[in-house]
Amino acid sequence: MALTFQTVIGLEIHVQLATKSKLFCACSTDYIGARPNSNVCPVCLGQPGSLPVVNGRAVELAVMVGLALGSTVQQATRFHRKNYFYPDLSKDYQISQYDLPICAGGRLSFRDDDGVEVSVAITRAHLEEDAGKLVHPSADGRLAGARYSLVDYNRSGVPLLEIVSEPDITSPAHARRYTEEIRRLVRCLGVSDGDMESGSLRVDANISQKVSDGRWGSRVEIKNMNSLRSLERALEYEVKRQRKVLGEGGEIRQETRHWDDGEGKTRPMRGKEEAHDYRYFPDPDLPPLIVESDRLKGIAAVMPELPWQAESRLVSAYGLSDDDAKIFAESADTVAYLDGCIRAGADPKRAANWIRTEVLRVLNEQKIDLATFTLEASDLASLLALVDGGKLSTTAAKDVFDVMVRDGVALEPAMTASGVTAGLVEGSQLEDIADKILAENEEAVEAVRSGRDPKGKKVKFLQGLIMRETRGQADVAQVEDLLRRRLI
Ligand code: ADP
Ligand code: MG
Ligand code: ZN
Repeated sequence: MALTFQTVIGLEIHVQLATKSKLFCACSTDYIGARPNSNVCPVCLGQPGSLPVVNGRAVELAVMVGLALGSTVQQATRFHRKNYFYPDLSKDYQISQYDLPICAGGRLSFRDDDGVEVSVAITRAHLEEDAGKLVHPSADGRLAGARYSLVDYNRSGVPLLEIVSEPDITSPAHARRYTEEIRRLVRCLGVSDGDMESGSLRVDANISQKVSDGRWGSRVEIKNMNSLRSLERALEYEVKRQRKVLGEGGEIRQETRHWDDGEGKTRPMRGKEEAHDYRYFPDPDLPPLIVESDRLKGIAAVMPELPWQAESRLVSAYGLSDDDAKIFAESADTVAYLDGCIRAGADPKRAANWIRTEVLRVLNEQKIDLATFTLEASDLASLLALVDGGKLSTTAAKDVFDVMVRDGVALEPAMTASGVTAGLVEGSQLEDIADKILAENEEAVEAVRSGRDPKGKKVKFLQGLIMRETRGQADVAQVEDLLRRRLI
């Protein structure tokens, strides 16, 4: 009988916490672009006699993630030393958490691309410090081919939160979605910029295959995926590779593999991970970390609405489609802007539609975000109220919107500046417009009058010009009637 396989995946996601200073010292966390080894001190270099002091803000950010994931935030935890030698680690140990992580347990649920509900258990989330960076001055920046290497310790001591999932994930696509959800969460909480390209969010993916004949292949850990896309590709590659080996009766070596994005392959990696004896022991320089109940309550009280909460609220309270809700929930600012419009009386669906198309277009064009956008949500609401009341056509409203944005003015002055009036263009105002258009298009007028427009094409043309001149605010029947009278 042909063998069948089941994919088992568990992810370890390192999130760089958005603090100004490092986890145990006052050095700046700004390591990208900074002069090498300029943001360092005796603490983050681990010089004898220096004493680490834990960064309270990093603890708060970790707690926020724990609360969002439904973890048990452990009020008494501690830090351990994880001992190993590597040139990017000047102390020869990394301060991390071992038996008492700050967040224990939890769960993350999401819908997959087919709309199926997926739920992944969280094992733990713990605080740890980052290591420095090796710089290899070879043509391609890789160790092979470099005659020597340089070490930059600016990153050492930068706070990380490592979020570990249970091996509950069953496909590369679900691994991508899970990572997307974590990224959306840490961004919404302001915990991290969650940028995979620059390394603020790093995923180590563990993957194995269960075989229908009872075998269970060893787990392989893959590193070096710099985007969601490469995470998914790396896992897909590894599924195929492992199934092939197991299908031929071979064995999977438990190892760490490196994803090569250019080649589209994983490769065995030499490495420190193979030395499993880290001789963890409690860091004698750091007292137990206590998160008092009041502090915990204080953090819980200021937690923002989470992306998945916002998403379901937008569907249930405003009747938005799942797709619209998902787009809005990507950013707390956009949700707040929509809420503001609706609070000021706008129809939810119309407001959502305008924000998605017009507002986001302007933000894109001007390369700004909602924080610096001049048009207040309430101003947009008053504009949309005119559209809802049939006082402004969509075309006219867009003209007014553009002026409001361009000049940073409220509704009234923008209407004046764009020459738009609320309500139907009719009576003598409509007659004046029609006469102007007819005067400008004598040829067409002559053709109609002398019977050279049997299909009425020229009449339609003139009608279109008049509608455009009124910015869509005239009643079509009235315009037709007026033209019939004028063109006899
Ligand atoms: P280590 O300490 O060696 O990194 P852990 O037991 O802490 O190992 O597991 C690390 C990650 O590996 C977790 O995300 C876990 O879900 C995942 N994992 C454990 N067993 C398997 C397996 N058989 N297949 C795939 N992933 C696994
Ligand atoms: Mg690991
Ligand atoms: Zn320092």
